[in-house]
Amino acid sequence: MDIVKLSLTDVRDKIAAKKLSSVEVTKAIFDRIKETADLNTLITVTEQSALEKAAEVDGKIARGEKIGALAGVPIIVKDNISTSGIRTTCASRFLSNYVPPFDATVIKKLKAADAVIVGKANMDEFAMGSSNENSAFGPVRNAVDPTRVPGGSSGGSASSVAAFQAFGALGSDTGGSIRQPASFCGVVGLKPTYSAVSRFGLVAFASSLDQIGPITRCVRDNAELLNVIAGHDEMDSTSAFVKEDYTDYKTGVKGKTIGIAKEFFDREFSAEVKNAVLAAAKLYEKAGAVLKEISISSFDAALATYYIIACAEASSNLARFDGVKYGLRADADDYIDIYYKSRTAYFGAEVKRRIMIGNYVLSSGYYDAYYLKASKVRTKIKAEFDAALKECDFILGPTSPTTAFKLGGDFTDPSEAYTADIFTVPVNIAGNPAISIPCGADKSGLPIGLQLIGRSFGERELFGAAETLEKELG
Ligand code: GLN
Repeated sequence: MDIVKLSLTDVRDKIAAKKLSSVEVTKAIFDRIKETADLNTLITVTEQSALEKAAEVDGKIARGEKIGALAGVPIIVKDNISTSGIRTTCASRFLSNYVPPFDATVIKKLKAADAVIVGKANMDEFAMGSSNENSAFGPVRNAVDPTRVPGGSSGGSASSVAAFQAFGALGSDTGGSIRQPASFCGVVGLKPTYSAVSRFGLVAFASSLDQIGPITRCVRDNAELLNVIAGHDEMDSTSAFVKEDYTDYKTGVKGKTIGIAKEFFDREFSAEVKNAVLAAAKLYEKAGAVLKEISISSFDAALATYYIIACAEASSNLARFDGVKYGLRADADDYIDIYYKSRTAYFGAEVKRRIMIGNYVLSSGYYDAYYLKASKVRTKIKAEFDAALKECDFILGPTSPTTAFKLGGDFTDPSEAYTADIFTVPVNIAGNPAISIPCGADKSGLPIGLQLIGRSFGERELFGAAETLEKELG
């Protein structure tokens, strides 16, 4: 048995049944992490604390004590999620020496569930990017094809799960950063409903869009991981008073209506991706769903809206990195000089670009034309998604217009990279949950991801429909 290739659910059950010990599972994971170190998926590896936790869990099991829902299971966490005593860099030079004094709520929940945290995943700096090439710690390679990018910004999380370095990982998704890397690496990624998972301790990029979510190798595992991290948190004032058992879902789509938005398909993008996604829609039909053509007319405005809102919020959120409160400080004469020199030296190019765009769209004279207008379009996008999801149970489309691009840049202009998010950002703007699941491969064998969008707090229905496709595709 190749331990590292077991599903999260299987390994959890085997540990609980004493068929495997958490220590042997965790050691197998660290062997695998070492074998596949070239992928550069991890910024920090926490071998010692992980082995201690694994031994503690094994002890609890041996003594017949109560154990958590992920007891002994190795998990990887994106490096923008605060971990007490473990460096949390956001893949930025700025935070390269920053060790948080507290745990994010999702980390507290993982620990309470007795999970074993094995490392902190590489990412695009401050979660800005779609290729993981904007990392101060070097790019991540795609486990499926190391000459390709894993997607971003949760590229380290997705590639590590595809490489069997953990049984699941946490990512964050502001405009597609869980779903797009999941699709590039051939794994399952869920962006939960905005407010379903606490953001306390997630280093903020765009607070009104950011959500933490699970990346796993199958749908069942995804539900198990979400179930541990979701729920109301008094430390996050936007967190919803919703508690569901996300593992309690039913596979099947009989009688469900699946919306095919024409704006998703009436455009130029990879024919292989388009065909694979439409073929999967046919499989849904075969499984008993009704396909219905729908329209979301504001779809085309979503990308511009996203880059205005996300940059505006980022410019404000990142003001706290001043060389005084967090991370590195440049040598300087006075405090203005500290700000100036630290921010110049320690932010990467993409982060600076976003801060500049954000300050521009918020500046007096431009505020009404950009930020205010984007806020109005946002309301319209949300209303159109809600209306569409009254007519149908899910909206189906591609996760990304392409499969994984080549490392080293297929893009000549940063705005070209932004178009990679065209199918994912509308969902963050609307706040709905969406899942990316593998639905085939292109002729070079690179995975293709299908995106299913659900109603707010409809994660259980999404899991049921996603698992149907997983079964249909074998
Ligand atoms: N790729 C998008 C961006 O660069 C999304 C990032 C994210 O979801 N964190 O903004």
